[in-house]
Amino acid sequence: LLLVFGSASLLVAATARSRALAKRQMEFVAGVSHELRTPLSVIQSAGFSRVADADRIRQYGVAIQREGRRLAEMVEQMLAYAGIQSGRRQYDFQPARIEDLVERALAEYETQFTEAGWQVEKEIEAGLPRVEADARSLESAIKNLLHNALKYAAGGKWLRISVRNASDQILLTVADRGPGIDAADLRGIFEPFYRGRGVLASATSGSGLGLSIARRHVAAHGGRISVHTAPGKGAAFTLHLPALERTTYDETA
Ligand code: ADP
Repeated sequence: LLLVFGSASLLVAATARSRALAKRQMEFVAGVSHELRTPLSVIQSAGFSRVADADRIRQYGVAIQREGRRLAEMVEQMLAYAGIQSGRRQYDFQPARIEDLVERALAEYETQFTEAGWQVEKEIEAGLPRVEADARSLESAIKNLLHNALKYAAGGKWLRISVRNASDQILLTVADRGPGIDAADLRGIFEPFYRGRGVLASATSGSGLGLSIARRHVAAHGGRISVHTAPGKGAAFTLHLPALERTTYDETA
């Protein structure tokens, strides 16, 4: 009898989970369709109107570039998600210096942070051991955290990226002074297609895939991702990665 009850409740839980996923996928399709509208109308109106004014041409150019980048990011995320889900994503692990990955990820967003007047702090511990990393996937996980800070914590315009070694766990933290994350959203944000309630209400662009992809990438490295937050006090996301070279030995472990 116990077995029957056990299986039945497992089945109910699994059904509820797949219903929730299906609902989020529908929201995602609606969201993507909505996201496609803006760039398409920018491109269409820029193509139709005969503009002679150099200033207007420049404005159109900037708008097309901005919208194009947003679309490209979304397509990249969808491809990354599809690759992971289908098991096609292959990881190529090589010893890597985490500080190099941080530099490369920061360089990609440097212009955006500078132009928007952000204060970006970097705190990297000296003499960090290396990590066994698929550089592309770890870099994309770091970039997702930076991009989210840009999107959601623009009110604070402050970010700190820090890396330290805690008993051979490399901890890479991206902290911001944005709105933080509502307790009700915390369990969901690492699930695919999940978007926070406040974010949906404010119509900030996104697919709800970034953190779920980051979580999968970090897990492939034998690590995990965590978040520390308080509403109104910002959010701090941490990647926990095993160090390649051990620097500590605990006999009881
Ligand atoms: P997306 O940004 O496309 O919505 P993510 O998976 O990257 O997808 O993030 C999921 C959700 O987590 C976001 O919709 C948002 O509610 C929340 N979130 C992520 N990063 C932050 C942050 N730095 N500050 C506040 N909320 C965040």
